Amino acid sequence: MLRLAPLRWQPPTDLSHALQLLQQPGARAVAGGSDLVPNLKLASTRADVLVPIRALPELGGVTVGSTAVRLGAACGLAELASDPDVVELLPALAHALGRIASPQIRNMGTLGGNLCLDTRCRYINQSELWREALGGCLKSHGSECHVVPGGQGCVAALSADSVPVLIAYGAVAHLARWDGTQPQAAQGHGPGPLWRAVPVAELYTTDGLAHVDLRPGEILTHLEVPLPAASSQVVYRKWAVRQSIDFPLVSAALRLDRSPDGRLAGGVLAIGALGPRPRVLKLDKWIGAAVDEALALALGDLAFERCRPLPNIPYDADYRRERLRVEVRRAVRQCWAP
Ligand SMILES: Cc1cc2nc3c(=O)[nH]c(=O)nc-3n(C[C@H](O)[C@H](O)[C@H](O)COP(=O)(O)OP(=O)(O)OC[C@H]3O[C@@H](n4cnc5c(N)ncnc54)[C@H](O)[C@@H]3O)c2cc1C
Ligand code: SF4
Repeated sequence: MLRLAPLRWQPPTDLSHALQLLQQPGARAVAGGSDLVPNLKLASTRADVLVPIRALPELGGVTVGSTAVRLGAACGLAELASDPDVVELLPALAHALGRIASPQIRNMGTLGGNLCLDTRCRYINQSELWREALGGCLKSHGSECHVVPGGQGCVAALSADSVPVLIAYGAVAHLARWDGTQPQAAQGHGPGPLWRAVPVAELYTTDGLAHVDLRPGEILTHLEVPLPAASSQVVYRKWAVRQSIDFPLVSAALRLDRSPDGRLAGGVLAIGALGPRPRVLKLDKWIGAAVDEALALALGDLAFERCRPLPNIPYDADYRRERLRVEVRRAVRQCWAP
C-alpha cells in the first residue's frame, strides 16, 4: 500500500486567509484531492502543507449573467455535469465533465482541480520504486526524458477533459493571489487579493514540469464562459480504451460559428492529450466554406497534419494520430447533425 508522507493540514477561514496560507514554502491548494493525493503517494509531486479550498464560498456556485456564465472553481464535476444551466447553455461542457473518470471521482473532483491537473506520462505515473529502476527522468530525480531522449524539457501530457472544451467556448480563468503591498492599500482597499484574468487558451505552457501558468500561491477562483451565440455549436470528442475511469488518449473540442446562410463564419479546434499545452488551431482558412462533408475531411486532415502525439501516454502514437483525424471529422458532422 502506498502511504502519504507526513504533512500539515491548514483549513482557511476565507479566500484571503487561504491565499495567505499559500504563501508558505511547500504549501499547496487541495480541492477534491483526486489528482493531488495519488500523486503525493507516488511521490511524483511534493507538498509540506495542504490548504483545503473546496469549501470556500468565493469559489462556489454557477451564476448566469447577461453575457457569460460564472462557474466557481470549487464546483464539483458531478454537480456541474448535471446543473440545469450548464446542461442547457454549455451542453458540450456538461458532456465533457460527465465523461471524466467515474461517478465517485466526479463527486470528489472539482472544475478548478481539473484545469490544474498535473501532466501525465507513462514514465511518471508509476511507483517511486518503478521509476528509480529506470533511473528517473526530468520530472523525478533523473536527468533524461524517456519520451524524447536528449530533449531539453518534459513533454508529459495535459489530459484534463474540461480544458479543450473551455477553450472552444472562449472561457476566461480568474486567478487570485495574496498581495499585502502598497498599491492596493493606496487605493483605500487595504491589503487583499490581487486578481488577474487569463483566457484558458493562454493558461498553459510547454513545460511539463510547470505547465499551468500559476504564480506562487495563486488560486483559480472561477471561470467566465461567454454565452454561446445561437449560430455557434460546440462539440467535445474523447477517445479512451474504456468508457469509464479512463483519461483521454485523444481529445478534441470544436466550435463552429455559422453565418445566416449556413456557411462557416468562424470557429476553433482545441486538441488535448498531446503535450503539456493544448493545441489550438484556427479555422480562418475555411471561413465562407459550406459546413459539409468536405469540411469534415479538411479539418480532420488539418488535425492530422498539425498534431503529432508522442509516446508519453499509453497507446500507439501513430494510432492516436489517425484516431484524432477520425474524431475531428466526427466532431464536424456532429455540429450539423439535427
Ligand atoms: C482513476 C482516475 C481517473 C481519472 N480520470 C480522469 C479523466 O478521465 N479525465 C480527467 O480530466 N481527469 C481524470 N482524473 C483526474 C481528476 O480526478 C480530475 O481531473 C479532477 O477534476 C481533479 O480535481 P480535484 O478537485 O480532485 O483536484 P485536486 O487533486 O484537489 O488538485 C489537483 C491539482 O490542482 C491544484 N488545484 C486544485 N484546485 C485549484 C484551484 N482552484 N486553484 C489552483 N490550484 C488548484 C492542486 O494544488 C493540485 O495541484 C482521474 C483521476 C483518477 C484518480
Ligand atoms: S515526458 Fe519525459 S521528463 Fe516528462 S514525465 Fe515523461 S519521461 Fe519524465
